[in-house]
Amino acid sequence: VGCHLSSFRALDASTVRLLQPLWDMIKAREGLLQSPFFPVLFSGTTYVAFCLPFIVLDFVSYRVPALRKYKIHPHFYPSAGQVLLCLLHTVYQHVVFIFPVTVLRWHWGPQTWPAAAPGLWELLYHVTVCLLLFDAEYFVWHVLHHKVPWLYQTFHKVHHKNTSPFALATQYLSVWELSSLGFFDCLNPTLLGCHPLTTMTFNIVNIWLSVEDHCGYDFPWSTHRLVPYGWYGGVSHHDLHHRKINCNYAPYFTHWDKLLGTLSLGYSAGNPPTPAPWN
Ligand SMILES: [Zn+2]
Ligand SMILES: [Zn+2]
Repeated sequence: VGCHLSSFRALDASTVRLLQPLWDMIKAREGLLQSPFFPVLFSGTTYVAFCLPFIVLDFVSYRVPALRKYKIHPHFYPSAGQVLLCLLHTVYQHVVFIFPVTVLRWHWGPQTWPAAAPGLWELLYHVTVCLLLFDAEYFVWHVLHHKVPWLYQTFHKVHHKNTSPFALATQYLSVWELSSLGFFDCLNPTLLGCHPLTTMTFNIVNIWLSVEDHCGYDFPWSTHRLVPYGWYGGVSHHDLHHRKINCNYAPYFTHWDKLLGTLSLGYSAGNPPTPAPWN
């Protein structure tokens, strides 16, 4: 790892300047970004913005067979009531639970933001490690909340209400599950001492991947088709978790389920599965 880090730093000597204009632009708005309202607005709008294309797609693909073939469950479409319920649930939880936590965090005082941007390789390395750690932490949480009946009934069952997930079902979670996810999300960049730009990037990637897990569409460019060797389960694996509930506990990668023997080959739009050419 030390060898990897030093080679990343050597590479970064030439890439530091790449992210500097972006970081300067963000840092110029530091007052606004460090306000107590920003984190909740940022995570809420990013989440809804990532869900929106899939909500539109559900309306369109219902009538367009060329798009419908990418749907994992071609005969399932969420009703307007289901979509609205999930949206209201998310808004309610952001206002009533996430906002007070971010105010509390703000009350402890602002973070000091460095003047220099992170190197591109450092950013990519940290985001990958954060994702791997998040995947492991949620895997443990998830297995526990399926194996202990009281935990399942009290905290996790609500997320399984949608047996065929759709984008806005991603954050249809109990307060305890949402808080646990938020905690894991904040813990890893802090442990690794990530640059604020890296932390923001990780948060955006994490929200995107969680929405993709639930979107119900298996596209040729879905993440699990882009990552080689079946390392990434993504939408096809997590969709199956919602159907079978006793497999595919890791949200993103496949190694933990392989180790525990809980991996079940995922759904694919248009069976049999068509792996990417390099898989
Ligand atoms: Zn889920
Ligand atoms: Zn589950």
